[in-house]
Amino acid sequence: MNDTITLAHGAGGRQTADLIGGIFKKYFNNPLLTADDAAVLPRPEGRIAMSTDGFIVSPAEFPGGNIGRLSVCGTVNDLSCMGAKPLYLTCSFVIEEGFPVEKVDLLAKSMADTAAEVGVVLVAGDTKVAGKGQVDGVFITTTGVGVIEDDVQTGGALARPGDAILVTGDIGRHGCAILLARDEFKIKADVKSDDAPLWNNVKAMLDTTKDIHVIRDATRGGVGTVLYEIADQADVGIRLEESAVPVDDTVSGVCGMLGLNPLYLACEGRMVVFAPKDKAPALVETLRKCKYSENAAIIGEVTAENKGRVVMHTEIGSETLLPPPSGELLPRIC
Ligand code: MG
Repeated sequence: MNDTITLAHGAGGRQTADLIGGIFKKYFNNPLLTADDAAVLPRPEGRIAMSTDGFIVSPAEFPGGNIGRLSVCGTVNDLSCMGAKPLYLTCSFVIEEGFPVEKVDLLAKSMADTAAEVGVVLVAGDTKVAGKGQVDGVFITTTGVGVIEDDVQTGGALARPGDAILVTGDIGRHGCAILLARDEFKIKADVKSDDAPLWNNVKAMLDTTKDIHVIRDATRGGVGTVLYEIADQADVGIRLEESAVPVDDTVSGVCGMLGLNPLYLACEGRMVVFAPKDKAPALVETLRKCKYSENAAIIGEVTAENKGRVVMHTEIGSETLLPPPSGELLPRIC
């Protein structure tokens, strides 16, 4: 095979077959992935969740992950937010002519490894090659299907006054890692993306209690944006304890230098969870035993007053409105 992707790799001929046989079959091999036009799947019992997401992150590789891992985490986590066990994934690659073949190999391996962590299977895929300059490196879109656990109903509109609000770990690492990887600010700091597939964490929570109102992954816009979304969707207020929000010291330092609020930095392996206050301690205990959620914490509560607002209690004891989200902080974060 050539060292770089050529237009011929996307033309459907021998080189396409080489790419599929040499890389994708090597990592994604399973009985449901065939050479036919569509995957034929057994019909699962129960309610189905389905989600899709495109990934254009720049750079495609960053400390703690790459666009391949991210593309699996994103869709796995969106399904998991609905209490759905991820079953099947499809992926669509758009690759720029000249992209190194060994990088495609690395991305496919990351995708397979990440999928295996939560037992989701890749059942169909597509590869297109675009001419030099028509895309930047590689873009990946994944679509996923999952089956929702019995007696589970989560949704942004279901938050209720009296709910506790949890995060599953320290926040803002993905956004911070991407920012540092781009090296625009010439800051050297060791921050790894938090990107992680969280179905096992959600499953552990649901095994603890089905009484969970909202699960949302804090991706673009971060935890602050999620809190405002839920306050709006459920028409409730949110009271946030600033000192309870877990933030890695290095992330906090970088944010300090750049005047950023970690509450608005993207995460790719963190969820915000709303559940009745009496269930929250058990959920935190469960999460802290799971990989990727060792730093889970209760960060606030839902209130009947201050509808649509997020009121933050600061470390010095004052009360302030968390500034509402304002536009995209960074382009091409995911
Ligand atoms: Mg989401």
